[in-house]
Amino acid sequence: MAANGHIPSEQWAMVVEKTGGPCVYKKIPVAKPGPDEVLINIKYSGVCHTDLHAMMGDWPLATKMPLVGGHEGAGVIVAVGELVTDLKPGDLAGLKWLNGSCMSCGYCRQADEPLCGEPLLSGYTVDGTFQQYAIGKAAHVARIPQGTDLQAVAPVLCAGITVYKGLKESGICPGQTIAIVGAGGGLGSLALQYAKAMGIHAIAIDGGAEKGQLCKESGAVAYVDFMSSKNLVQEVKNATSDGLGPHAVLLLAVSEKPFQQATEYVRARGTVVCIGLPANAFLKASVFDTVTRMINIKGSYVGNRQDTAEAIDFFSRGLINAPFKVIGLSKLNEVYEMMHKGQIAGRYVVDTSQ
Ligand code: NAD
Ligand code: ZN
Ligand code: ZN
Repeated sequence: MAANGHIPSEQWAMVVEKTGGPCVYKKIPVAKPGPDEVLINIKYSGVCHTDLHAMMGDWPLATKMPLVGGHEGAGVIVAVGELVTDLKPGDLAGLKWLNGSCMSCGYCRQADEPLCGEPLLSGYTVDGTFQQYAIGKAAHVARIPQGTDLQAVAPVLCAGITVYKGLKESGICPGQTIAIVGAGGGLGSLALQYAKAMGIHAIAIDGGAEKGQLCKESGAVAYVDFMSSKNLVQEVKNATSDGLGPHAVLLLAVSEKPFQQATEYVRARGTVVCIGLPANAFLKASVFDTVTRMINIKGSYVGNRQDTAEAIDFFSRGLINAPFKVIGLSKLNEVYEMMHKGQIAGRYVVDTSQ
């Protein structure tokens, strides 16, 4: 193992000790990287709604327990295993949702590694980024250019990669219009920035005036407030220049209803991309409408290593400026409280030194 400087034997972390939470701020041991792994001194980590789903046991997939959550961590590599040749202590790196995969199944072989049957998931099946030192498989950690602002890049590592991939999966082209549902949240605020950078017009859908303001500032051409709208389907259609509705929809919301509405306002031959993961939710759409309007409904799940590099490259070129607030790691439960109530406009990023 090659290491840089002093690596402590203990560190601060937020630990989920039982499903349902809360997290406990405590000292835990620092793990040692295996031969194909790196140890990253996490400086900042974004807080994704997935971390709250993990703590609450919302999904039909068990987490490790006790669990250190978090999967949007940016920091500095402090140690690398003996098989790691292309990363070294001192390099900047990010830990994302897909911490590792088998690298030999058919999906991994064709770089569809999010679909690997044996994934390691940061902050879910392995400890994640709500600690000062976290482990990642070298093949999968995000490469971050020297000089990058680690606070600002952290949300790119899940939210950014995921929405960038979702935009590609939607098949949308520059000049066309996409509806972004949950646009004032963490993924949504990044989606607005990626869409703008790609020359795509975005109709933002979320609730409340603060999120409306944020969406407009982030480049949305229109804002539809799901909490006050009398006829959301019609309002979304009206927001397109020809009234036919958006060419695609990105569903990022953490509630079921918008998943039932999207096929009603998407344009004929349009694509609905499901990304948000509300607990116990189902899709429902009129078969008649889906057939006769030739609607495409699909899912999109994080991104591969190349999507990661491309999403970070957009950021590095100064094209991604999504709003975020920084708070101490020890205050994570307060962030979850606000997130549960839908009160967060943009993203919270935790500082692991506090
Ligand atoms: P967030 O809480 O920051 O944002 C969710 C937003 O949805 C909020 O702004 C909320 O006001 C809005 N919303 C709620 N109900 C709505 C409605 N009816 N219409 C429009 N907007 C509505 O959450 P986030 O961190 O952006 O994550 C969003 C979801 O995406 C979570 O379920 C998360 O687990 C999931 N996710 C999926 C992937 C993937 O790869 N598919 C990756 C990351 C996150
Ligand atoms: Zn996430
Ligand atoms: Zn695999």
